Amino acid sequence: MPHVTRFAPSPNGPLHLGHALSAITAHDLAGSNGTFLLRIEDIDGQRSRPKLAESFRADLAWLALDWREVPQQSGRIASYRAAADRLRAEGLLYPCTCTRAQIGATATAIGAEGPIYPGTCRNSLTDLSAPAAWRLDVAEALRRTGPLIWHDAVAGEQQARPDLLGDVVLVRKDAATPASYHLAATLDDAADGVTLVTRGLDLFAATHVHRLLQALLRLPVPQWHHHGLLADADGRKLAKRRGSPALSDRRLAGDDGQALAADLRAGRFPTGLHLVQSVGCYP
Ligand SMILES: [Zn+2]
Repeated sequence: MPHVTRFAPSPNGPLHLGHALSAITAHDLAGSNGTFLLRIEDIDGQRSRPKLAESFRADLAWLALDWREVPQQSGRIASYRAAADRLRAEGLLYPCTCTRAQIGATATAIGAEGPIYPGTCRNSLTDLSAPAAWRLDVAEALRRTGPLIWHDAVAGEQQARPDLLGDVVLVRKDAATPASYHLAATLDDAADGVTLVTRGLDLFAATHVHRLLQALLRLPVPQWHHHGLLADADGRKLAKRRGSPALSDRRLAGDDGQALAADLRAGRFPTGLHLVQSVGCYP
């Protein structure tokens, strides 16, 4: 069956080679009979720059990819609120007013996304006059769903281990950007009919949480393909802040985007870059 895949960049910085590899991978895995979607994840209110989305489209066209664009996240806030309300009504969310510093000081374990929230607010009365984030009670959620599995095209069948990330935030404190990445991306993929979620290995652990959310919200369960990450000589993932050249700079300088896409497909990377096929303790 042909796949529906997607590339879902955030307009808070220009695309670089790592994004190009991710977009090409998703595009090619959809195949000629499938559908490759572009979704602009623009709810990171403070950092989001709308003009960048236009540049992203020009970058994808320069790489000779074709895509169908689905609504940006800023147009989907109502669906995030509805899902959060439903989970809250089922007693699966609790408010948390802890600051990042407080969590850093009280956490006893480090997970895939930093210090694991120690559950401080899970069983305490939280002062709701202060802005609160809403966290998923992962242990209670898993008790209700029972064990869950998911399938990665590269790593094979996985037992869902959302506990590896702790009680993640689903609704952020910031009223302008209500949904966390976990909630928004999971709902969007279901709404967009994505059948093969293609993204970098750095999001492998996040999939444990997404699989749990699909069970809780009775969403269809796609397959996943977590691909290797382009890294520099020190093994660090490419990032604009570390000087990875923007695709738009190369495009505007008149470089050949189709030739670049061919190089990336063939695994020919610029000097100093290589593909990292495993991230920490995750396959
Ligand atoms: Zn808290």
